[in-house]
Amino acid sequence: MTARIIDGKIISAELRARVAAEVARLKTEHGITPGLAVVLVGNDPASEVYVRSKHKQTQEAGMASFEHRLPADVPQAELMALIAKLNADPAVHGILVQLPLPKGLDSNAVIDAIDPAKDVDGLNPTNAGRLASGLFALTPCTPLGSIIMAKTVHASLEGMNALVIGRSNLVGKPLVQLLLNENATVTIAHSRTRDLPALCRQADLVFAAVGKAEMVKGDWIKPGATVIDVGINRTPGKDGGKDKLLGDVAFAEAKEVAGAITPVPGGVGLMTVACLLVNTVRAACAIHGLPKPA
Ligand code: NDP
Repeated sequence: MTARIIDGKIISAELRARVAAEVARLKTEHGITPGLAVVLVGNDPASEVYVRSKHKQTQEAGMASFEHRLPADVPQAELMALIAKLNADPAVHGILVQLPLPKGLDSNAVIDAIDPAKDVDGLNPTNAGRLASGLFALTPCTPLGSIIMAKTVHASLEGMNALVIGRSNLVGKPLVQLLLNENATVTIAHSRTRDLPALCRQADLVFAAVGKAEMVKGDWIKPGATVIDVGINRTPGKDGGKDKLLGDVAFAEAKEVAGAITPVPGGVGLMTVACLLVNTVRAACAIHGLPKPA
């Protein structure tokens, strides 16, 4: 039996439509226009693409979008001054600094300087700590999107055996916390884990966030399991053809065993920006003392 495909295009479009409705409500009922400021340092082509997409989707949702572009050789102090200005700006509810920053800049210092109330990337240690403590937090967008996708298959993740492969601050660790909040039983795997295939075969839910193209093989998957592939690996096309995007899961094999699986492209990647919009609305509500939107 072939797995059900968890379609990021459909799920992210539904999420964006819900965000747009919430933005319209905030405007008419409270006179609030959620605003997202994106800071891009340097001109890395991949970052340019992400920033353009964020700008477009922010505007389409009816929010205010502020773009700040700085040269790659900007002094750290100037970048920090911009963050301080955005922290103080009442029109800005969310601040995102596009990572990675060019060499020579201290991204930890930048992340630390963002007001936790406006930290829509959820990377500030205050938000990471609040999430780990089960308190309200702005949560990194990719893990949030991954959970939303899993919940389109299983209304409740309670008691399920979930395996998270990867332990980065951006994806793996917050994913673990979100899964614990859902009452899943979580195993965390990383580069030092022994016998990953055997662990994987026990998992009802597999989240692969490794950064290694097609590492998770079809015969690692428990029949009927749900597989969420976070990986985005750009690989050169054959015979000089266009680059291909591959996930961390060998999709063709895994879809013959899994119950449901996300494709790459067309999966988790599309959820990340949609969740950024969700976080900006959440931040705007919290800043104005309004209840968390549904
Ligand atoms: P990192 O490189 O920060 O982390 C990778 C993790 O994978 C580490 O914890 C590492 O372990 C672990 N790992 C590496 N090799 C193995 C192995 N052989 N077996 C088991 N675990 C291993 O990556 P990110 O978390 O930032 O990203 C992961 C993937 O997700 C990438 O492909 C990235 O492109 C993608 N991504 C996708 C996004 C989206 O929007 N869909 C957004 C962000 C990331 P250790 O800690 O021991 O080194």
